Amino acid sequence: TSLSRQFSSSSCIMAPISKETDFLVIGGGSGGLGAARMASGKFGAKAMIVESNRLGGTCVNVGCVPKKVTFNAAAIAEAIHESKAYGFHVQETAPFEWSTFKEKRDAFIKRLNGIYERNLANDKIEYVHGRAKILSKNEVEITGDDGSKSTVRAGRIVLAVGGRPASFPDIPGSEYGINSDGFFDIATLPKKVALVGAGYIAVEFAGMFNALGVETHLFIRHKTFLRHFDPMIQEGVTAEYERLGVHLHKESSQSRVDKDPSTGKLTVHYKDSNGEGKLSDVDHLIWAIGRVPETDHLGLENTDVKINEKGYVVVDEFQNTSVDSIFALGDVCGNVELTPVAIAAGRRLAERLYGPPTIFANARLDYSNIPSVVFAHPEVGSIGLTEPQAVEKYGRDNLKIYTTNFTNLYYAMMDPAEKAPTKYKLICAGPEEKVVGLHIMGLGSGEMLQGFGVAIKMGATKKDFDSCVAIHPTSAEELVTLR
Ligand code: FAD
Ligand code: NDP
Repeated sequence: TSLSRQFSSSSCIMAPISKETDFLVIGGGSGGLGAARMASGKFGAKAMIVESNRLGGTCVNVGCVPKKVTFNAAAIAEAIHESKAYGFHVQETAPFEWSTFKEKRDAFIKRLNGIYERNLANDKIEYVHGRAKILSKNEVEITGDDGSKSTVRAGRIVLAVGGRPASFPDIPGSEYGINSDGFFDIATLPKKVALVGAGYIAVEFAGMFNALGVETHLFIRHKTFLRHFDPMIQEGVTAEYERLGVHLHKESSQSRVDKDPSTGKLTVHYKDSNGEGKLSDVDHLIWAIGRVPETDHLGLENTDVKINEKGYVVVDEFQNTSVDSIFALGDVCGNVELTPVAIAAGRRLAERLYGPPTIFANARLDYSNIPSVVFAHPEVGSIGLTEPQAVEKYGRDNLKIYTTNFTNLYYAMMDPAEKAPTKYKLICAGPEEKVVGLHIMGLGSGEMLQGFGVAIKMGATKKDFDSCVAIHPTSAEELVTLR
């Protein structure tokens, strides 16, 4: 066949791809790379990875990485504003060139793509740029960029195809909006944006736009957002967004979107808790209403791989699908859709399949107590059970819940109206007060959670927390001195 294979970003070697491999990974994102690199780089398996888009997947190209870089830009904007309270003389509206920022961010991601490609070469993984479709339990058809097709036989196939943003709602003009992928294409700083959604993405994007001085409207269906989080977080961050000036449209729905053909500006027709309204002069409308698995056109119908009613691939705790030669991991399984989860699942699978059985026979990812952070304003960290979940599992009488609400010392120099709240909650169960849930919101929560995550993973109790001497003056110390 004439399918192309790229070994490095600097030199593109065209060569026919192998007709057989041991471990064929579909998807060069977080999970696929984790699995292939462990299988080949560490254990010497003959591995191939097929990626139809850019190496690194969602996280590197249109997710965590460019998002966090943008979050950093927003944090700098906030710091510039706040620096006045510390006696700095700065311009009230510091000029921010989004176009320069975007150019540099894109270049950084491109560099990462190259690094990922070189890593594959170093680990002796055959990298094929093309679209994979399963023909049978051991056969995959790959369509190359030039349209040529090739069939590869594989001992084992891994589905690490991730997901994509959900389709736009069925209302006239919804197609004038963009999704989270489109967010990363925005070329200049908008004046006014509207976001629809109430999860991680809508909340993170709205917070960043607002901090960068963009008039930000967030449309949510209920009274609060982040509704899968502990009520303290839902209510705390929702109130904080209102204080920060995000225009929250609660209990809202949209009926139509119009586009002005001459200016390209949008008008969103909606209903919210205040009645009907329309929002004009919108530069970008961003639908952030969830994600769906990328299982269409994957050829699953040619196998007995089970998918659930939402299209996610059904796996057991070892990432086995219902077909013995096919495995699945990461977002396509819809369990916990986070990059480190996909990577860890991929590595554990490769260890189990190719590592020494004496050590790795039962290797699998433990999906309990996975910490996660929402890069909101302020940051939110969460691990374990929310209070309602803990009540359901242990009963209210078997729980002891510790909370605190204070102002970070960082804000000591600022006017009362400028001070952001910090709120922590520790949920403890049973007479030994085992920590079964920890929820934090406030400055630095993103960096704080990892260490507490280790403690909770080890089964820490309230007494263990208290036995660790506080670090003063920090916010984190409040978690080891709760009364
Ligand atoms: P992906 O990374 O999506 O990789 C799948 C790959 O498969 C893609 O590159 C795709 O092109 C390829 N593919 C699909 N079908 C085929 C096919 N048939 N043939 C060949 N290739 C195919 N997670 C965090 O932990 N922290 C964050 O801060 C964070 N921020 C996020 C921000 C945004 C805006 C988004 C959208 C997501 C964010 N996530 C974050 C989630 C994270 O990106 C995903 O959980 C993670 O990328 C999932 O990895 P994966 O390997 O399962 O899939
Ligand atoms: P989520 O599933 O987290 O949130 C989408 C939310 O949007 C829903 O929960 C729902 O909330 C609301 N919604 C759904 N349909 C509509 C609608 N028609 N109109 C208005 N609101 C609607 O999806 P995201 O797209 O935000 O993120 C996908 C996943 O990516 C996350 O779950 C997370 O795993 C991962 N991610 C992780 C990040 C991180 O780690 N920091 C950052 C970004 C993404 P409600 O029911 O309240 O209306």
